[in-house]
Amino acid sequence: MEVSRRAQSIKASSTLAISAKAAELKAQGKDMVTFGVGEPDFDTPAHIREAAKKAIDEGKTRYTPAAGTPALRKAVCDKLKKDNGLDYEPAQVVISNGAKHSLMNAFMAILNEGDEVIIPAPFWLSYAEMVKIAGGVPVVVHTKKENNFMLTKEELEGAYTAKTKALILTSPSNPTGMISSLEDLQMVADFAVKHDIFVISDEIYEKLIYDEGKKHISIASLSKEIYDRTIVINGVSKSYAMTGWRIGFAAAPLEVAKLMSSLQSHMASNPNSIAQEATLAALEGPQDCVTEMCKEFKKRRDYIYEREEAIPMISALKPEGAFYLFVDVSGTYGKSYEGKEIHSAADFAAILIAEKYVAVVPCADFGMPDYIRLSYATDMEQIKKGMDRIEEMVKALA
Ligand code: PMP
Repeated sequence: MEVSRRAQSIKASSTLAISAKAAELKAQGKDMVTFGVGEPDFDTPAHIREAAKKAIDEGKTRYTPAAGTPALRKAVCDKLKKDNGLDYEPAQVVISNGAKHSLMNAFMAILNEGDEVIIPAPFWLSYAEMVKIAGGVPVVVHTKKENNFMLTKEELEGAYTAKTKALILTSPSNPTGMISSLEDLQMVADFAVKHDIFVISDEIYEKLIYDEGKKHISIASLSKEIYDRTIVINGVSKSYAMTGWRIGFAAAPLEVAKLMSSLQSHMASNPNSIAQEATLAALEGPQDCVTEMCKEFKKRRDYIYEREEAIPMISALKPEGAFYLFVDVSGTYGKSYEGKEIHSAADFAAILIAEKYVAVVPCADFGMPDYIRLSYATDMEQIKKGMDRIEEMVKALA
């Protein structure tokens, strides 16, 4: 029996593979430290959990409109106005099963077969696969560390072809933790308006920003022209420690939002009714839980970066947001650990997990084969233990 060629062309998620390997070693009784998964270790705040329990007891357990409940779509509009200075009508908002699902809906709503989507590397690994699932062609453009992993105008123009349909912007970035400045955004907006293409703006880490003077700006807020071409993607997984609830949302030009809603109605009916009530409580309730979690992430960011900087042969930029440290390990190439030689970040990560029981993500699938990604969404004790072991390994390289 022949199965789908398109489905066969899609790579399995390597971050999930790392998690599986770490779980396997843990089951064998190994003392694992995992910097793999991008998931806050905090519990979902109590008032959000209570809202979900209440929703069950009040019978909010039925189908909702495909694009989400009117109350939640309105709350998302209020959030976008308050936090991002954006004016949207509820009809322009689609609630989905996580930001991942919102992104998938967006690609399916705008792409025709063969349309190209510019993806700046390093990128979150699902983008390229999602574009392919939707029949598009990912066009990866490499950024440079000396430019804070931001695209230059020349790099962007060099990637443009008559088939370019959209570009993806992620700020704060997974995996680099860098935040696009107003100037970076203005350059991207000018490019998108000039060539009349869409911008998919993934803003899922917007609340996790650690330094005075740094702030999140939504590209859609720069002008009417760019607003008309932007699909804003956001959700509650990262900022409210709600990964398992699976709620994300998109705000888009009306025509695009209608298509996304229609696609979703056939593929998923609607996002979970109880999780939608919980999300309403997250968006409308007290926000001090977000501030508290952010403070804790900042402590960890400061600590993990300081430890990494003290280790020879590896280097990173200080992340400004999200919860990842993106580490260049190419300085270790040619060295070996107990006879095992390192020629790539994948080799480095394989030795680290096998010899030191520390799981990290090698970033070839993020478009940067010389880097590993460490998620610091884990507690300080684990971070300390993990960094001790990375230090031991690197210092023992010969
Ligand atoms: N965008 C980025 C950049 C992410 O890192 C993630 C989660 N790893 C998502 C989207 C998806 O988030 P969700 O859990 O809401 O699907």
